Order: sequence, then C-alpha cells, then structure tokens
Amino acid sequence: MDNIIVAASRNRHKIEEIEAITKKFGMRIISRDEAGIPPVEIEEDGQTFEENSFKKASEIMKLCGQITLADDSGLMVDYLNGAPGVYSARFAGEDGNDAKNNEKLLKLMEGVPADKRTAKFVSVITMVYPDGTVLTARGECPGTILTAPAGDGGFGYDPLFVPEGYEKTFAQLTADEKNAISHRAVALVELERLLSEREQ
Ligand code: IMP
Repeated sequence: MDNIIVAASRNRHKIEEIEAITKKFGMRIISRDEAGIPPVEIEEDGQTFEENSFKKASEIMKLCGQITLADDSGLMVDYLNGAPGVYSARFAGEDGNDAKNNEKLLKLMEGVPADKRTAKFVSVITMVYPDGTVLTARGECPGTILTAPAGDGGFGYDPLFVPEGYEKTFAQLTADEKNAISHRAVALVELERLLSEREQ
C-alpha cells in the first residue's frame, strides 16, 4: 500500500481524527502545508458532500502530484430537511463560527419534540491518485440534537449531538470514543475496504 497521503483539509481537528484512524492501517498523512502546497482556497460550491470532497482532493492532487485525501462532512437534521448539510461550516454566515452555528441550529429547533430531533453526521472521504483512480467512501453516524449544548471536547456541532445508543454528546465523549463511532470512522473503514479491494 502507498502510505504517504496528502490531506486536502487544513482543519487540525479533522486531520487528527483521520490520522488516529489511518494509523491503524499503516497510512501516514501529511498536511497540505507539509507537502509544500501554496495556501490556495478551494471553493466548496458542490451540492453534495461527494462533489465537494472530490473537488478538494483532485485540485490538491493536481498541485502536488501525490495521492491526496479530502473529507467533506456535515450535519443533516431531519426536521430541517437535511440542513445544514453541505453548508454546515457556514450555517450562520461566518465560515467556521461554531458558536453561532450551534446557536442558529438551536433556534431553528426550538420547541421541536425529542422524537423529531433526529439527525446524522455525514463524512465523505475521497482519495484521488495521480493516475486518475478515485476512491469514494461515505460514512454516517445517526443521533439526536439536544436542546442545549453539553461538553467541551471536539468541535463544530459536537456539543449538541448525541450519537445513537449513547447518553453523552460527541463533545462529552473522549476522542477515542468518538473516533470509534464517528461518521469519519465509518467512512475510513469503508475507505480501507476499498483500498484492500484495490490491492487484490
Ligand atoms: P467541511 O470542513 O467543509 O467538511 O465542513 C464541515 C463542517 O461540518 C464543520 O465546520 C462542522 O461545523 C461540521 N462537522 C463536520 N464533522 C463534524 C464533527 O465530527 N463534529 C462536529 N461538527 C462537525
């Protein structure tokens, strides 16, 4: 297996989570900065996680000529017909403002009963090879949205999301507990399956 992979993401939390999992599979991830890629912004203008993740991976691959991995992820809330979805990072307007995003989500969910607060985190990881091979792995983690934040770990919507089968939010679980069940973990297991299929 080729084991140096360039991550298109610059989100330190996500790279750490991905690396915690890929280590098990003998894959080493280097950041786009470590790969010497100039700090160009890639516009995430796709309508799906698949489109955005492919766009990020393929554009970075063209810049570095190495195998590149990109993740696009977000939260889909059933009561909001799948929103914030691909707009998760900029739900409240300001890119990456977790506090405002969480505040907006809570406001939109005000008065919604517990049984209608279902949601899922989705992660799509795409690996693009210089020879044009594309591997796409999707992972989902179902759960529910609380009425107030709980916990200080993780990032993004973690303090509001209780994964199915648990009584704590992603922000209250340890990193290891989250990494064992998260949407990214599920997507990485699928990616590993695709990689081993490719080796045969
Ligand atoms: P991306 O960087 O375009 O994939 O945007 C992902 C956005 O979705 C983040 O900024 C978070 O708001 C949200 N998100 C994705 N994964 C997680 C997670 O594991 N916990 C909490 N929020 C997440």
